[in-house]
Amino acid sequence: MTGAERIRGDNISFAYLTRSGETLALKNLELTVRHLEFCSIVGPSGCGKSTLLALISGLIKPTEGQILLDGVPLVGTTPRVGILLQKDHLFEWRTVLQNAVLGLEIQGKSDREGRERARELLALYGLGGFEDAYPYQLSGGMRQRVAIVRTLATDPDILLLDEPFSALDYQTKLLLERDVLRIIKERRKTALLVTHDIEEAVSMSDRVIVLSGRPAQVRNAYDIELSVPGERTPMTSRDAPEFRSFCKAIWEDLDVEQRDR
Ligand code: ADP
Ligand code: MG
Repeated sequence: MTGAERIRGDNISFAYLTRSGETLALKNLELTVRHLEFCSIVGPSGCGKSTLLALISGLIKPTEGQILLDGVPLVGTTPRVGILLQKDHLFEWRTVLQNAVLGLEIQGKSDREGRERARELLALYGLGGFEDAYPYQLSGGMRQRVAIVRTLATDPDILLLDEPFSALDYQTKLLLERDVLRIIKERRKTALLVTHDIEEAVSMSDRVIVLSGRPAQVRNAYDIELSVPGERTPMTSRDAPEFRSFCKAIWEDLDVEQRDR
């Protein structure tokens, strides 16, 4: 069940200043993500999706408007927010365990307890026995799992995911989508996923927000209600009778955006 408002983007605009001028990435964008909700964002390439996540992570500040977490204005980065990116950004010279504790280390919490937690998470997510391996010895899916453990080890309550599955082959991607969704639900996280994959968005989310072309504004939003017998996974979602019509509606929104350009 989802409840109170966890993330709120209140009338946010953001402009990049470059030598050749100003690029307005977001304009008067309004966005809310509820507590425990899994929300996805789709939009044309270059419309400002990554910029939006960078704003919510506190890495950059809006030019106008503000971001609120549980109603409190965000100032700078916070350990409450964890990020997962398309590239796993593992350090090749560190072992799996050493990579997994990196976030804890940065927060000054890589003590024995922290390391134990990272070990437990590695075991839980299929990496038991690989603690002392190096990243090059792992498959793409396993590497991304290490990145997930690194993010989870610091126990953030909000996860921002910027196309974390897009570099993986189809089979690995489906399995990892399933695992990540399970982890997020079991550990009671609020999640905001950016993806260009409409099926991924619909199959994983409680809600999908469609953005317009740059500067991004909210074009449409869909509550994804699917009839799934048993556990809802990205696989079972794809078999739901409503699945195609959600995908089609979102595809049409995006198509109109491209045509209007
Ligand atoms: P998306 O993730 O939706 O593909 P981005 O948020 O990365 O889009 O970028 C939005 C717009 O801002 C694009 O036009 C991009 O070229 C521009 N942009 C992104 N990062 C920078 C930057 N560091 N400096 C200048 N312009 C940027
Ligand atoms: Mg991006």
